[in-house]
Parts: sequence; structure tokens; C-alpha cells
Amino acid sequence: MTCDSRHIDLVENHDQQSGSSWVGTDAPRSDYRGLYIHIPFCSRRCIYCDFTTRAIASDSPELDEYRDHLIREIRKATREGLLGSIETIYIGGGTPSYFGHGRLVDLVYTLSLSINLNDNSEFTLEANPESLTSAMMRDLYSLGVNRFSLGVQSFVDSELRWLGRGHDSRQARDAITMIRERCDNVAIDLICGIPKQTIRSWQQSIESAVETGVTHISVYPLTVEEDTPLSAMIASGEARPPDNDLQAEMMQIAAEILPSKGFARYEVASYAQPGYQCRHNISYWSGIPYLGLGKGAAGMRNLGDNRERLLAGQVVERLAPAQSRAEDLMLGMRMSRGVSIEDVRSAQSLIPSIESVFAELVTLGLTKVLDGRYQPTARGWLLGNELYGRIWASVDSDGIQV
Ligand code: SF4
Repeated sequence: MTCDSRHIDLVENHDQQSGSSWVGTDAPRSDYRGLYIHIPFCSRRCIYCDFTTRAIASDSPELDEYRDHLIREIRKATREGLLGSIETIYIGGGTPSYFGHGRLVDLVYTLSLSINLNDNSEFTLEANPESLTSAMMRDLYSLGVNRFSLGVQSFVDSELRWLGRGHDSRQARDAITMIRERCDNVAIDLICGIPKQTIRSWQQSIESAVETGVTHISVYPLTVEEDTPLSAMIASGEARPPDNDLQAEMMQIAAEILPSKGFARYEVASYAQPGYQCRHNISYWSGIPYLGLGKGAAGMRNLGDNRERLLAGQVVERLAPAQSRAEDLMLGMRMSRGVSIEDVRSAQSLIPSIESVFAELVTLGLTKVLDGRYQPTARGWLLGNELYGRIWASVDSDGIQV
């Protein structure tokens, strides 16, 4: 997913992105299967963005300093044996492609010395259409980057301008074409509920996305984050807040069009052609530990049955075993495959009410039972906050403390 994929209101996004190195001597040695590296720089700020990033001049010496900092972090993690089992790598931001060709090559080359990049590796780079160059793409692909996630958001130029994006639809198409000359694993994001966006223009963006030949499409409703230009515009009356009903209708339209074009919905916001699901993101939703490197990058590790989240080198959240299990079940329900009945049953020793919670979810039409699994229904995905909230509340209602 690209940076913009964090703008999702239907679900609580338990994503990576953020923090300086938290690599510590007490970190587990070989649990990490995923590596997230954060590039907190952009050429400009989009009006809706609250990510850990900032606008910076492309010739700022800070960029070289940050590259050197990341390389030191990678070397340290290597020495501590933390990269030996990494299978998926994700360089996100911010705008990694704005970081610059030479710096990215330095970074990816350093990673290639530490991580066994092979046919089983998934290595994603986020990019924006205006800063991804042909030479950059060629060199990074040669070094092992095999998935490109492009922040497109819309194929309607007036909507892109309104969002404050730095590209137009032609640049987006050209960038996709350029990537596909070498690499067929191309993901893009689309945002729905943009003011002045219509059902027709939303359909147009979806259809344009399909026509480009990308293999993965994520769709997100525009959300209003605090302290963004967008929230100020809404507060002053300059812009109207997104219409939730219209956004739900647009999400439903995507859910109808994309499967008819061969894109299977495998997660609430993610659609992929066969074989092109994002393994890195699936690992986030499967409770698999990941290492975060770079300013603002978060990490997650399991210590026995406990779980810790880290941000900026500090443990920011510690989950008790019951909470870790509830989180696994909650995140599992983001995906179309859901969770197995057996998993729910086995969680009962930690969360006594969990089976009755899932039974209630079925009664409410948020979940269905199929092939021995609880799976989200279309209604469950639409009312994601209720679905996930009820699972999470099962821990609190049982009085289990951190
Ligand atoms: S490109 Fe825009 S949305 Fe993405 S991180 Fe930068 S400012 Fe935020």
C-alpha cells in the first residue's frame, strides 16, 4: 500500500509506518519476516495528509544525512542478526521516489548485502508518478525491488489538483507504463469521497486504473485528519466534509467493478489479480513480527504470548496475551479469508466471551461462516469499525488488563 492508504475510515489501520531504530539487544533474533523502512520526505504536502513526513528541498543536505542514518541502522540490524529471516521489504513514506535515485540505490544496495533477496522475496517501493524516473526504476529493479506501489489517488485531474497532488493523470499513466516495461507487479491507490467527485468520475477512475494494466488496486475513503489543511478548510466552511453515505456507495461500486475485471477483494480495501496480493501487508494482518527502521517507523514484536509495538525507539504499546489474540482475530477479519472457527475456539481460554461475540457477529450479518471459517460479509466490511470494535471490546469486557 502507498502512503495514502492510511487514509481509511472504515477500519482502524494497524499499519507500520513510523520511528527511529528500535533495534535493541533484547529484540528477538529471527522472528522478523517483514522489514519496513520509512522515508519521511515529500516535495509538497497534500491537503489531507497527516503522515510522518514533511516537504523538503530536493537538494537539502538532510537527505544525504538521512540516507547515512538509515544505512547505519541497516548495518546495526544486520550485526544483531535481525535481518536473516526477512521475506518482505517495504520502503514507504512520505515519498520514497522523491528521496532520489542515488540515495535509493545506496539504500537498496546495502539491503541487498544483508538480506537474501531471492525469488521468494517481495520488495516494494512506494513512488509518486512525478518523481519516479526510468533510470531509477531500472536500477532499483536490477537490485531486487520487484513491486512498485504508485500513489495515484484519482485519474481525474481536477480531483488531483483539489487534493494537492503533485502529478496529473497523464503522469500517472506514463509512470505505470514505464514500470510495466520491466515489472508487472504494480499497485496503485484510489481515494473516494473527494469533494466534487461524482459517482461517474469515481467509476471513470476505477475503469482507468484497470485499463492501465496494474495488478493491485487499493481503494480508500478520504478521511479528515486533525491539523491538516483539509480539516482547516472544513472548519472554515471552504470545503464540505466527506459524505459517508456517498463514500460507502463508492466503496460498493469498486467492490462490484473490480471483481468483474479479475481483481479479487482479499482485504477490506485491497483488490488484486491472481498472484499479486501484497504479502507484506498480509503479514501485518496476520500477527507476523516486523522491524521498522527510520524516523517515524513503527515495529512489532512478539515476546512469548505478549506483543509490543514500538515507535521512535520506545515501546508505545504492550499487549497482554488475550489482547494479542483479539488483535489477531480483529486483523484477520479485515481479510476475505477471515479466521478459522478453530482459531476462535482456541482463543476462548484467553477470551471467555469470544465465541459468543462471533456468534453475535453472524446474527448481525457482519460475519458469515463458510468452509470452517468466520469471514466478513459485505456489510461487515462496510461497518468495519463495528465489526472490529466488537472483537476488541471482548477483551475489555472480560476485564483483562495489560
Ligand atoms: S505524497 Fe502527499 S499524501 Fe503522500 S506522504 Fe507526501 S504529503 Fe502525504
